[in-house]
Amino acid sequence: MCGIFAYTGSKGSEAPDILLKGLISLEYRGYDSAGIFTPESGAVKTPGAVAELKKKIPKGFGGKSGIAHLRWATHGEPTEVNAHPHSDSTGEIWVVHNGIIENFKELKKKLEASGHRFVSDTDTEILAHLVEEHLKAEQNFEKAAIAALNDVRGTYGIALQYKGEPDKLIAARMGSPIVIGLGDGEHFIASDPSPILPHTKSVVFLEDGDVAVLTPEKHTIYKLDATKVKRDPTEIDWSAEEAQKSGYEHFMLKEIMEGPEVVENTLRGRLRADGGAKLGGLEFVAKELGQIERILITACGTAYYGGLVGEYMLEEFAGIPVEVELASEFRYRSPVLNQKTALIAISQSGETADTLEAIREGKRKGALTLGIVNAVGSTIARETDAGVYNHAGPEVSVASTKALVSQLTALALFTLFLGRQRALSPQKAAEIAAELRALPAKIQKVLDDREKIAVVAKKYAQARDFLFIGRKYNFPIALEGALKLKEVSYIHAEGYGAGEMKHGPIAMIDENFPSVAIATKNSVYDKMLSNIEQLKARKGPVIAIATEGDAEIAKTADDCIYVPPTIEMLEPILNVVPLQLFAYYFAKEKGYNVDRPRNLAKSVTVE
Ligand code: GLU
Repeated sequence: MCGIFAYTGSKGSEAPDILLKGLISLEYRGYDSAGIFTPESGAVKTPGAVAELKKKIPKGFGGKSGIAHLRWATHGEPTEVNAHPHSDSTGEIWVVHNGIIENFKELKKKLEASGHRFVSDTDTEILAHLVEEHLKAEQNFEKAAIAALNDVRGTYGIALQYKGEPDKLIAARMGSPIVIGLGDGEHFIASDPSPILPHTKSVVFLEDGDVAVLTPEKHTIYKLDATKVKRDPTEIDWSAEEAQKSGYEHFMLKEIMEGPEVVENTLRGRLRADGGAKLGGLEFVAKELGQIERILITACGTAYYGGLVGEYMLEEFAGIPVEVELASEFRYRSPVLNQKTALIAISQSGETADTLEAIREGKRKGALTLGIVNAVGSTIARETDAGVYNHAGPEVSVASTKALVSQLTALALFTLFLGRQRALSPQKAAEIAAELRALPAKIQKVLDDREKIAVVAKKYAQARDFLFIGRKYNFPIALEGALKLKEVSYIHAEGYGAGEMKHGPIAMIDENFPSVAIATKNSVYDKMLSNIEQLKARKGPVIAIATEGDAEIAKTADDCIYVPPTIEMLEPILNVVPLQLFAYYFAKEKGYNVDRPRNLAKSVTVE
């Protein structure tokens, strides 16, 4: 999820310098720790920034080759021992890794039983030990690496090095990008092309299941079955900045486009065959959770809207009373809480000041505190009793997009977890789980159609006001659609429950005041159609978010943006995506700095 850079060349002792410069060009992603290894000088690691790492590197630290990493922790807090590179028990094999090894616990157990000792809490460390184990049998580094990769499940982008063959690097990819740089007498491995570009424009993008073996002179690519494969090099003409955004114009678009991957990462290894959810972070409070009588969700901004969706999910399928409250309100009034209440904080950064204080207040009152947090080891993650990490990876753009998609997915998992403890039938749980698994492909379909959304955004770009309406599960999504537009386009937008329209907002509607109506085929579809009619009767232009194949709605709405069908509970995860894209294209059309909207900061650490 974060940054990898590795180098092998014949240029004397310059590798550390090349590696550190490369890490700096990967810093844009946001990370929590950094580390470097060369076979000649060993490993240096630190929590914090590359600048800290530089300070720790001793004089004379050199090498012709090496591997380096910026970590975005998923397993184990951001500490020096948990920072990459990680080694095997002999200190001969070193690895840097992006992603999550899903079966690391069972592999760790097996390895421990055969005498391996682990020093970190990461999933990554087992990779080095697995290679060590296979190297004993194979006596060949490449073969050992391929065998080790055949043992693991999950996502990885990796770079491996073995002191016994110091000029050789091994790279591999499964679900986490890896690009190889082809230089003159030198080769590079990186998680995106930006650190490679100053050295060479000629790169090979690895595909899932590829394992590349590099020396300064040569590169060979294998599949996981050890057969060789040819991958054509690409000449990239991206600037370093474009490379950081994977060729997209803005981080916001890149992050919206990551939606399918984000859902997969949040779900990875967490859906049981029986439809229940396996949430490691909640296991040790499972008994307390079985006894709670009420849930209070607290959050700010976009995460608060995620919480509102969570309320609908949890009440309908887990049968527990849920309230959702803005953290900034919660912390200053006198909320009634007790041991039978679970207080859930939702925060991307895990540092949101108001949400943190709300959790502290909840603790003082004896509530069980839980976190749905993206940043591992963040203050909220540390101070809550237990929690679920959403594994969305770093979010760079100020306006939150993929983090919400992952929060909603985590809330669906939490609903399955609590639901199965209570009245949710295995059949219903299995149906929800199957739909969750189908979501990434459906989100992809919406994303593939993004140009149509761009056309609609352009058509309405002169509007000065917008109303967003939805009902039930899509009511909070209407609020989020309005917030997204406000944040990045500085346009006045109101989010409303569609049933509330006639209690005030409809007074504003005329031919210059467009509305976005989320009207997918669900239990409140007919009600939404009536609301659209009411808007049309006041000459208000209407953009409908509708279910594929719904020709009826196109007769009334001025414009339709179609999404694939899913179950009502999961509609928000799908329906929020076109609204994010709408806000993005709208802001782009206006020529605004989409990734850095005025007056806003990414992590709101002030109240
Ligand atoms: N799962 C690994 C860890 O927590 C990889 C982190 C990353 O992708 O940066 O250390």
